Order: sequence, then structure tokens, then C-alpha cells
Amino acid sequence: MSELSHLGIGTGLDVHAFCEDRPLVLGGVSIADGPGLLGHSDADVLTHAVMDALLSAARLGDIGELFPDTASEYEGISSLVLLEQVRRELEKAGVSVVDIDCTIAAETPKLAPYKEEIRRTLAGALGISKACIGLKATTCEGLGFIGKKKGMAAFASVLVRKGA
Ligand code: MG
Repeated sequence: MSELSHLGIGTGLDVHAFCEDRPLVLGGVSIADGPGLLGHSDADVLTHAVMDALLSAARLGDIGELFPDTASEYEGISSLVLLEQVRRELEKAGVSVVDIDCTIAAETPKLAPYKEEIRRTLAGALGISKACIGLKATTCEGLGFIGKKKGMAAFASVLVRKGA
């Protein structure tokens, strides 16, 4: 069996609408110059995309199945706590994270000052090196719901090793 048969890939996509009366949290980091995002948990759109990508790569379902938004226990919860739970699920399944690459699509706020802290925070929650997490931000040139500043999207691609 080839070495590549031990690798798995996963992608994740999440979208949340902006709202004025909540804090903005991305990758477990509070972003001072909001606006915040609407959602059942802390609406951390980036962490949600990463969790979905990881669960998909490990063939463990998705965050909607693991953490249903109808469950009161997840109301307002830090998505970083959920990410740590995903890490444990991966460990139980013998899956280890090799690499993660993320993109945030948002017209606002400017994320450059936060990128290093976000990478460090996600890496800490997953027990991997910051060097294993790529993060970039882009705008949508005024087009669509992102361009009109109605919300933001996050995309994540991951590579995992199975049978760790
Ligand atoms: Mg979400």
C-alpha cells in the first residue's frame, strides 16, 4: 500500500452574517474592530471552517452533527473549546493533522494585525506547530454579501495522516 494511502484531505466552508451587538472572534482571537457575527455559538466562522475540514478529512462527519445548533449546551460556547473536542475525536480515530490552510473572505475589518495570533491560537488548540497553519484574508471587491459587508466567509483545507 502506498504511503499516500495514509493521507486524507478535507475542506471546510462557513459563513456568518454580521451583527452589531456581538464581539468578533476569529480563530479564537477577539478582534477589537468588529462588527461581530451572528450565530448559536460564538460564531467563530474561521474555527468552524477548520473543524469541518478536519472532521471531513477524518471521515468523522461535520460540526452540525457533532455540535447541533439546537443544543443549549453549545449556546454562546467558545468555538475553541469545540475545536479541542474535535482534536480529541481525531486522536481517538488515530488521525493527526499535517497541515492546514485557511482563507477569510471579508470586506472588513483589516485582519493583518491579528493573523499571527490567530495562527498561534489555532495551533495551540490543536497541539501542532504554528508553521503548520497558513492564513490569508481577501476581500470580494464590493461584490455579493461579503462585498456588501453583510457577513464573512471562511474556507479551510487540511491534510491529515491516518493510522497515527
Ligand atoms: Mg458556523
